Amino acid sequence: MSKRDYYEVLGVSTEAGQDEIKTAYRKLAFKYHPDRNQDDPDAEVKFKEAAEAYEVLGDADKRQTYDRFGHEGVNGQGFSGFSNNEDIFGAFSDIFGEVFGFSSGGRGGANRPRPGTDLRYNLEISFREAAKGAEVDITIPVEQTCPECDGSGAASGSDPQTCPQCGGSGTMQQAQGFFRISVTCPHCRGAGQIITDPCDECMGRGRVIQDRDLKVRIPAGVDNNSRLRLRGEGEAGINGGPPGDLYVVIHVAPDDVFQRQGQNLIIGREISFVEATLGHRLEVPTLDEPVNLDVPKGTQSGEVFRLRGLGLPHLGSTHKGELLVEITVKTPTHLNRRQEELLQEFAEIEESKLTNKAKDFFKKAKDKVMGE
Ligand SMILES: [Zn+2]
Ligand SMILES: [Zn+2]
Repeated sequence: MSKRDYYEVLGVSTEAGQDEIKTAYRKLAFKYHPDRNQDDPDAEVKFKEAAEAYEVLGDADKRQTYDRFGHEGVNGQGFSGFSNNEDIFGAFSDIFGEVFGFSSGGRGGANRPRPGTDLRYNLEISFREAAKGAEVDITIPVEQTCPECDGSGAASGSDPQTCPQCGGSGTMQQAQGFFRISVTCPHCRGAGQIITDPCDECMGRGRVIQDRDLKVRIPAGVDNNSRLRLRGEGEAGINGGPPGDLYVVIHVAPDDVFQRQGQNLIIGREISFVEATLGHRLEVPTLDEPVNLDVPKGTQSGEVFRLRGLGLPHLGSTHKGELLVEITVKTPTHLNRRQEELLQEFAEIEESKLTNKAKDFFKKAKDKVMGE
């Protein structure tokens, strides 16, 4: 496939000035931008073609070579070719910044306001505190604006000087190919200012680490590994930016009485086989006063009784989970003679009950056969 002439692609004459070429390319880039032409596969081809033409004609040296030698002259002579759209956006970011309103990055350098860093604090609380809610005092070391120099980093009585290298912008323009890119000023490291007499308190950093005392309100029912966000309690912002946030990560210590499953509490209780057989009133601990649970006759080992509203509160609600009481029936291991005799007797009755039942069954079966 023969390549179209670059002037033809951009729709300009061979006499066109650089401004005219740039304007023509911008129009085409806007018209054929893939985001605006998702239904038209030809648009992307035209978009890339225009970008390629502009990469050559937009550069005085490459254009001269192209004028003399045509496509052959610029192929393999530093012309990159574009494998995908990202390459185009990367190479032409300054133009796209203007056309599409993107920021091409780097503008304002390190001087621009930035939010402070978010902080994380691990807070260990007891099971009861998590269940009931609590207020906990914590002290965290936080990087804050230096109170001595008010963040300027300069000793009192002196002012930071404007950086002579970048004139205070914090960035320098650097030519890369025929594009100009912004780089952080190496002299002031982007601050735009030079401190000649640094503040003693912060060594010129403008920030110091100080302990901050905070009260953290733990909501009732909070679960292990929950994060509480304390807005604005992180590190101070930079260049007047907003402060970061503090994330308090809650670690709930295990309890020796209760286990937790969501908002439900689980507790295990043992009863004897006699209690299980005859029924039994059991005292069960809760987060408040103990309550009575009537275990009915014939309860099996592993049965779970649910006590409504005695679990943990759902966050931000008065609704509470359940208290689950799991029953284990204990088999006695040491019996005295009398107990053993009684159990023997019990067993015999059970057996005769079974035998009678069996007899009954056979009798019924027989009657049925006879009846037929
Ligand atoms: Zn200071
Ligand atoms: Zn500078």
